Amino acid sequence: MESKLKKLGFQGSEKLKTAPLKHSIKSVVKFLKENISEDDHRPAISLGLGDPSCFNCFRTTTVAEDAIVEAVRSAKFNSYAPTGGIFIARRAIAEYLSNDLPYQLSPDDVYVTVGCKHAMEVMVKVLARSEANILLPSPGYRIYETFANSHHLEFRHFDLLPEKGWEVDLDAVEAIADENTIAMVIINPGNPCGSVYSSEHLKKIAETARKLGILVIADEVYGHIVFGSKPFVPMSFFGSTAPVITLGSISKRWMVPGWRLGWLVTSDPTGLLKKCGIADSITNVLNPSPISPTFVQAAVPKILEKTTEDFFSKTIDLLRSASDFCYDKLKEIPCITCPQKAEGAMFVMVKLKVSLLDDVEDDTEFCLKLAKEESLVILPGLTVGLKNWLRITFAVEHSSLEDGLGRLKAFCQRHAKEP
Ligand SMILES: *Cc1c(COP(=O)(O)O)cnc(C)c1O
Repeated sequence: MESKLKKLGFQGSEKLKTAPLKHSIKSVVKFLKENISEDDHRPAISLGLGDPSCFNCFRTTTVAEDAIVEAVRSAKFNSYAPTGGIFIARRAIAEYLSNDLPYQLSPDDVYVTVGCKHAMEVMVKVLARSEANILLPSPGYRIYETFANSHHLEFRHFDLLPEKGWEVDLDAVEAIADENTIAMVIINPGNPCGSVYSSEHLKKIAETARKLGILVIADEVYGHIVFGSKPFVPMSFFGSTAPVITLGSISKRWMVPGWRLGWLVTSDPTGLLKKCGIADSITNVLNPSPISPTFVQAAVPKILEKTTEDFFSKTIDLLRSASDFCYDKLKEIPCITCPQKAEGAMFVMVKLKVSLLDDVEDDTEFCLKLAKEESLVILPGLTVGLKNWLRITFAVEHSSLEDGLGRLKAFCQRHAKEP
């Protein structure tokens, strides 16, 4: 058997060395963690992944926990759920999203998925056609590229502009689109940049999409996680200008990524998506695919409707002060510049001036040495598409953030070039 497997190309894994661009965020973080020295008696700190659910201060609300327990105990939700999700979950998601819209979504617009990541894959599969292409943001969330590759959907990148609060370079979008472009993806609030788009910018995105005849896929997994001056406005607010497909989940706002409940919603007041068969195509793709646990779906109405404002405001306050603290501490480090303080989500992108450092070639080497010498994990920008930048997660408990940023500063001082 071994020789057959080898012949078929199963020849051990491709080892990650210094080319994280080809690898997922998770595998890069794992690789960096493996490089932490055993001789360092300080605890390892990771500002690499965005999963605050392991910290006590970010524990989800008891409303959500009770809703799950109640659904399990009722013994009414032990069966397979239908494709697209159970009605009460779809209705609750439609209501939840309609609160922010000038029109009403129907439960028929909603497809329950196994988290937002599953919704992303479903959407890529729906759009995959031999000639078609989609436009993706850079820097971005690279699982879109991974899914597009595995389903043979061509993608092209447009830049986000750091000096403009990471807004979409709409001229670039127009320049790279052609007659086979069917969609563009925006992530708002943004991963990896912590950006929040104004209503005016979203309107311009919708107008550009209309002009190009493409749909907008709005990844709003961080919806409502905003703590700067701009409110969260959903892309689907402009759904009558261009059709929008909204992707989301309870993973981030409720801090329960392990519960695997997300959604894909056609926000299409003009009915174009239905007319073109996109809605049917979504059902066809979902039919053979896994479905979120029925009892988690059954808990959705209570989770969305009964969570109290104080849970949300507590989380937002924690993230705001973490973002402020991070911004202030980073200002003390000469080789790092932060063009834009994070106003949403859980991350900030900062530029690394390697020319000010002695023995560091690029962001990847920087992060590798940082893990080895300081037991601190930070994501190299290359992993999200931007070389010589860093993505820092600040959604961790305060003591880790303070300690982590202190180690980052010490590392940069130690490696600074002599003036
Ligand atoms: C975390 C994340 C997702 C995945 O969300 P899940 O609900 O956990 O699958 C999707 N998009 C972006 C931009 C994310 O940061």
